[in-house]
Parts: sequence; C-alpha cells; structure tokens
Amino acid sequence: MRRQTKVVRIGSISIGGDNPVAVQSMLNVPIADVAGNVAQARRLEAEGCQIVRVTVPTPADAVVVRALKDAVSMPIVADIHFDYKAALACVDAGVDKIRINPGNIGSDERVREVARACRDNGIPIRIGVNGGSLEKDILAKYGAVTPEALVESAMYHVALLEKHDFDDIVISIKSSNVPIVMAAYRLLSEKCPYPLHVGVTEAGTYRMGLIKSAMGIGGLLMEGIGDTIRVSLTDAPEKEVRAGFDILRAAGHHVPGPEVVSCPTCGRTNINVAQIATEVEERLRGCNKSIKVAVMGCIVNGPGEAKGADIGIAGGKDCAMLFVRGEQKRMLRGDIVGQLCDEIEKLVL
Ligand code: SF4
Repeated sequence: MRRQTKVVRIGSISIGGDNPVAVQSMLNVPIADVAGNVAQARRLEAEGCQIVRVTVPTPADAVVVRALKDAVSMPIVADIHFDYKAALACVDAGVDKIRINPGNIGSDERVREVARACRDNGIPIRIGVNGGSLEKDILAKYGAVTPEALVESAMYHVALLEKHDFDDIVISIKSSNVPIVMAAYRLLSEKCPYPLHVGVTEAGTYRMGLIKSAMGIGGLLMEGIGDTIRVSLTDAPEKEVRAGFDILRAAGHHVPGPEVVSCPTCGRTNINVAQIATEVEERLRGCNKSIKVAVMGCIVNGPGEAKGADIGIAGGKDCAMLFVRGEQKRMLRGDIVGQLCDEIEKLVL
C-alpha cells in the first residue's frame, strides 16, 4: 500500500499522492561545458528520464538552466549548496525545482528570500540530507550517522522553510548504508506528509551500486515509500535511468515497455539463452508496449514459464518452440532471435 504524500508539482510533472513514481538522474558533465550538459540531458530524456538535476555552484552558472530549459522538456532541478544567490539566479532562469538545505545558506533573511522567490514562481524545494554532511551538533548528539540523526536533520531544514510558510517541499535522506537509509526513510515517512525522493547515495560502481540501489530503493518502494527515485552509480547517468525503471518494474510498479524473463540455464539447456535474451532486450529497447517475453533453455521447464508470458520460446535441439499467449505455435529454426522479434512485433503493433 502506497503511503499517501502531498502532491508536489515539478514543472510538467507531479509527484506524491497517487502519481506514478518518477525516475530521475543527474548530469555529470563539467558545469562550464553548457553544450555538453545539454547533449547529455537530451540523451537522458531519450532514455525516458523524467526529472534531471544539474549542479549550479554560482549565480553565473545558472546559464546552464536556461540552456537546458530550451533544449529538453523534462523538469530541471538545480542543485545548490551554499550560495543562495545561485538559487535566486536559477529561479530567474526558469528552473523547475531547487535542491537546497536552508540551514546551509546563512541567515534567516536569505532563507526567507529563497522561499519567497520559489513560492512566487511555484517552484518546490528539495531538502537533501546526506549522511556525509550532517550538522555537527546533530552528529555529536547521536554520536554517529543514525536513522534518527538523519531524520532530525531533515526536520530541522523543514522547520526553517515552514517558518516562512513554505510547504512545497520534497525530502531526501541518504547514506551509502542500505539498512540505515531504509530505517531513516521509514521513520521520516511517519513524521511528515512531504513526498520523498528515495536513493542510496555513493552507492558505488555499476555492480555494487545496482545491488545497493535495488535493495534500498526497491525495498522501500515495496513498503509503499518513495515518490521519485534516483539510482546513484559511478557510471553513465543513462544507466541510472535504465536501472531506475528496472527497479520500479521489479518492485511491482507499472512501467510501460517490455519485460524479458529468461532461465538461469543448466545442463539441459539447448540454446544460447544469454545471447538470445540479450539480443531480444536490445532490439526491444525504446519499445513502450508492455509485453512479457520469456526465453527458456529447454522444453522440460521452459514451456510453463513461456506460457505465462505474452510470448516465449523454449529451446530444443538447434530449434525453439514458440508460445504466444499460452499457446504452442510452431518450431523456430535458424535465426531464432529474428523470428522471435518478428512475432513480438506482430503482437505489439
Ligand atoms: S528452463 Fe530448462 S534449461 Fe532453463 S534452467 Fe530450467 S531446466 Fe534448465
């Protein structure tokens, strides 16, 4: 059961409430390279990325926000750390959301100014608490980065905005430790109605990053927690977007597009399951029809799974039996991938 959260509008999309969980990523091209940032944003949008964040260290860097707004239609989030004037410049440049921790920008007057500018322009603010940059007094109180410490930090920043009647808020509360992240989000979701941006930060390189993200993000999604997600990988952001959708799908959310299931292979395997499944997945990239395709290695256990899919094959000796919507159709020989893809096309067209 999805936890009910406040609906927050970020440019052209809304998160929270019953809105689908949105997948986001972050640009990693040097900020001075505006053309490079725009090109990467276009690639991410082509992958289906729904919200993209860019770092804006100084007010002058807000030019990248303008350039991105002109180039892509997905909402743009500016990542601001200490310079409140950079936040104001991004508002002027037409940004869709600001990620800023009000406790880090100095005086209450500055918080008031940022809150007012965002409110006047309908721009939400994400408070992003990170285990690596907890306030010193909170860290001293808890003695370590605990779930309670992360939540206290988030609520401290929330109070600074609420004091100025600002409640168009999204919160994230990340650490690289999966059990701590999960406990922190659970605690936070009990304490406030704001939509949650869920992620495991500094999750690592591709393999470990995927595992930690699948556990942390996927686990929380299955508990109904999470309104937008970001998979953090030390790798290309395009891979973060693909992983985000795959985690959503694996957690039982509806994600348009094909799902390929394949058997792990064993001594009975008759066909090259890995190659066929990978090629089918590649050929179906970009297709947004929801269809389940099964690639199974033999006719002992294969037909059962293949029958449960919209379309599937079960390998025989140099051939594969084709199943469509549970019915055994015919034996494929020769170019199995090509024939299977032709059959899939017939189903999705
Ligand atoms: S479907 Fe057949 S080949 Fe694949 S793992 Fe099961 S028994 Fe082995």
